[in-house]
Parts: sequence; C-alpha cells; structure tokens
Amino acid sequence: MKRREFVTALGVGAAATTLVACGDKESEQLGLNSDNATDSSAAKSVNKKQKIKWKLVTSWPKNFPGLGTAPENMAKLVEQMTGGNFQIKVYGAGELVPAMEVFDAVSQGTAEMGHSGAYYWKGKIPAAPFFTAVPFGMTAQEINAWVHYGGGLDLWRELYKPFGILPVAGGNTGVQMAGWYNKEINSIDDIKGLKMRIPGLAGEVWEKLGGTAVRLPGGELFTSLQAGAIDATEWVGPYNDLAFGLHKAAKFYYYPGWHEPGGMLEFDINQKAYDQLPEDYKHILTTACRAINQDMLDEYTARNNTALTDLVEKHNVQVRRLPDDVLMQLRKISEEVVADVAHTDDLSKRIYESYLKFKNSSNAYHQLSEKAYLNARDI
Ligand code: CA
Repeated sequence: MKRREFVTALGVGAAATTLVACGDKESEQLGLNSDNATDSSAAKSVNKKQKIKWKLVTSWPKNFPGLGTAPENMAKLVEQMTGGNFQIKVYGAGELVPAMEVFDAVSQGTAEMGHSGAYYWKGKIPAAPFFTAVPFGMTAQEINAWVHYGGGLDLWRELYKPFGILPVAGGNTGVQMAGWYNKEINSIDDIKGLKMRIPGLAGEVWEKLGGTAVRLPGGELFTSLQAGAIDATEWVGPYNDLAFGLHKAAKFYYYPGWHEPGGMLEFDINQKAYDQLPEDYKHILTTACRAINQDMLDEYTARNNTALTDLVEKHNVQVRRLPDDVLMQLRKISEEVVADVAHTDDLSKRIYESYLKFKNSSNAYHQLSEKAYLNARDI
C-alpha cells in the first residue's frame, strides 16, 4: 500500500473506531483523553467547521525519512479527519527555531506543537531521558507498554506540566545501532579520548569511561565526522544513517545500540493551545499522534533491513559487534548513571522507580516470550 493510501485508510476509521470503542476511563489510560471530557461535553463542542491553523517545529531536517515524515503524516491525518479545517504546518529544524529549541518554542507558544526527543532536554529536566531512551533500558515494545498501560504517561505529563506542555508519544526507532567509528573498539580502553556524538544519559556513561560526549543535532553529524571535529557518532539505524551518508565518513558500524534500545520520540503540545481546541479536535489530534507513534516503528522495522543490506553490499561497510566485556562495563556504568537521576528530586525518583519496576517485570516475561522465541527461531 502506498503511503498516501495508508494515511487515507487510517484516517477517519482510526478515530471513529477508537472513540466508539473506548469509554472515558479507558480513553484516559490510552492517553487519548487528558482532560476528563465526558461524552456529553464532547458532543456539545463538536464544531467541525472551526478553522484552526497551528505550527509544529521539529528537531529534524525537513521531511527527513521517518523522524521528519512522522509529523508530516500526523498533520495530514488531522487535516483529513477534520475535513481540512484543522491544519498543522510542519517546520524542519532551523526553519522557525533551531533543532534544540523545540521544547522552549512550544513552552513559550512560539509554536503550538513540536516533534523531538525528550532526552534532548536533559539539561533542563534530568528525568526527561526516561521518555526517549536510557542506556540498557526498555525496547520499543516495552516503553510503549509502560507509557500507555504502566503509568508512564501520567508521570511524563506531571514532568512537563510546569512548562505548559502536554507530551504524547510520537514514534519509535526500535533498537538503534551503536554508531560509526573510524577505529575498532576491542577493549574499554579504546573509548578513552574518543570524541563521540552521543546524547542523553549515554553521553554521561561515555564520559565516565574517559571519552568525550558531544551534543549535536542530526543535520551536523556528517560534516562534523568528515571534518574530524568528532571521532565517532551514533545517529539512529541503517535507514536513517544511510540517508545522512555516514558510511562515507566512517569505516566501522557497531552494534548493538546499548545506549538507545528503543528511542521514543515525542509530540509536545502547548497546553493552552490544546485547552482551546474543540473537544472533537482534541480526540482527533491525540488519536493521530497515537497512530503515528506505531506507524513510525512499523516503518523503521521494515526499512532498516533493506538499508543494512545496501550499506554492506553496495557500500562495503564493516559491521562489528561490541565485545562482551565492553558491553558488560558499559552496562555497569549505565546502571549507576541511570540510578543517579533518582536523586534529583521526588518526581525523578518516582519516574526512575516506575521505569525500573516495569522494565524488570517485563524482562522476566520476555525471557519466556520475545527472547525465548527469537532464540528458538535460530535453533
Ligand atoms: Ca540515536
């Protein structure tokens, strides 16, 4: 099915099904209804003719595969479900605000919405990385479950409330790759002195092991790596890394992505702008975001495979696995760095404890399900 057909098919059907199928209580759990609206108040405010135009700023190059097309697809769904009355214009990084100012722009109302990754706001909100990825943390399947059925969404909303932002899950890349290097990593000592673009809490792990962690937006990675301003970089996985041409600037492509085992993206919504929407538009907006949250993961799951084949067969990229002892030491330091966030304040502690409890219980079952099955498939 072509993308336009998929978006059209998903359109009205997804919203209608969800709204009919869910009572208020269930809708709240799903993150589809954050304001306790009842069916009767929703019915009163139905106003499909109300014209609304919003701006959405992103941390990605305009229309960048996956990350950049997700907000465009979300905006298309909203437009289709409102008969063209609710229009959201999507801006690439730097078009309206720089990549790393998306959160502030939405908080201040410069744009009504943003699409980015929570871990970029770590300097301002230490617990934010739990809502993108933490090293050796949850996979896409697990973090979606925690956010939507394990209490994660309520904690996330509490975390962003002081900034006037309503967060909604906005896609997931799946397990990422560990990154691009020009020298081999054979022992933990090879990390010493290595200047790598690696965001979030993983950057702190990197520094504890003697490396230098650099924070750069995606659009600057290729030139920085090629010019030698950085020695190594992680970005996403084969689909996105091929699009940036990172294989032209580094020889070795390492796995697994210990630092981002399920990178979740976010839609940031300005709370005041959201509160002013008619009730049906609120449901349409959150339903479209939820649909795109899953759609992005589906797209990455499909495209990473073919992109990896291209990187290896057409571009002679050398794929390397990080050695076990390196992974073990990365995991040990990661556990310390992630646990340190709990000391920040009461909310950070509650987020850490909720995350860890969910991850441990999910891990116990996944030993018998996902992991056992994937191993069984290779016997
Ligand atoms: Ca990444």
